Amino acid sequence: DNFLGTLGGPGITVPVVGAAFEVGIELAAGGVEVNLVVDASSEFRTTSNVIANSPAGRDDRVVVVGAHLDSVAEGPGIQDNGSGSAAILEIAIQMANQQISPRNQVRFAWWGAEEAGLLGAQHYVDQLSPRDIKDIALNLNFDMIGSPNFVRFVYDGDGSDTPLAGPNGSKNIESVFLDYFAAMSLPVEPTAFDGRSDYGPFIEVGIPAGGLFTGAEGIKTPDEAALYGGTAGDQYDPCYHLACDTFDNISLQALDEMSDAVAHSVMTFAMTTSAVNGTDKGKGLGKFKSDMEYRGSHLVK
Ligand SMILES: [Zn+2]
Repeated sequence: DNFLGTLGGPGITVPVVGAAFEVGIELAAGGVEVNLVVDASSEFRTTSNVIANSPAGRDDRVVVVGAHLDSVAEGPGIQDNGSGSAAILEIAIQMANQQISPRNQVRFAWWGAEEAGLLGAQHYVDQLSPRDIKDIALNLNFDMIGSPNFVRFVYDGDGSDTPLAGPNGSKNIESVFLDYFAAMSLPVEPTAFDGRSDYGPFIEVGIPAGGLFTGAEGIKTPDEAALYGGTAGDQYDPCYHLACDTFDNISLQALDEMSDAVAHSVMTFAMTTSAVNGTDKGKGLGKFKSDMEYRGSHLVK
């Protein structure tokens, strides 16, 4: 068994490999001869964010609607994250077709290189001026919304069920999703707001955020199977970060239900006249700063 080494960036001049614990035990036992061939590359590559602004709407209350456009190298990434990317693209197309003129500017963002460590979203937030940051009302993030063995997860923006809360206003965003699903009589559950996807750089500078998720490598519980259908004991997405993350790896039911919720949230914040974040933007790098570490979408600690 081998592991993907992530060293944070190019420039490491010695090959680095990882081995499973069992292999380590064999090696530690001594008397073992090892032949190791490393076929790896380390180089600079270029990636892009694709960003589209609505022509109309207040540009001091921008709604940033994001989904990452890249996949891991192992597979095509249709669920992760063709699902989120396609959902927000369709909403942008429908807003244009129906000539919707939002009160607040809507900025659709398809982030590059999320899987390499949130690089696109991090770059975007890094180049914002303090004024730009102030002018972003919120970030909505959609990363995996068609998992084949899905659960309807809503980011726990207020930290009511999980250890980490988002900046002021994240609770209001969570409420928009909770109210929507309650009205549709569709059960949901909270998922940790831990900075694991592209909203991470936004909440670090105090911009409230929220979003949806249908599960990745986590295992469906019997309770969840009773609520949502699917198979208890299996991963929510059995092809998470694998070559089999193809079109066959999508629940069209989940994608349909979640996409409707995405559209509802985008239009709610595009049209709202009240402040998402109440009176204060929150501090940034404060109480919601995660002490966990991420490698792309993998929580490593
Ligand atoms: Zn993803």
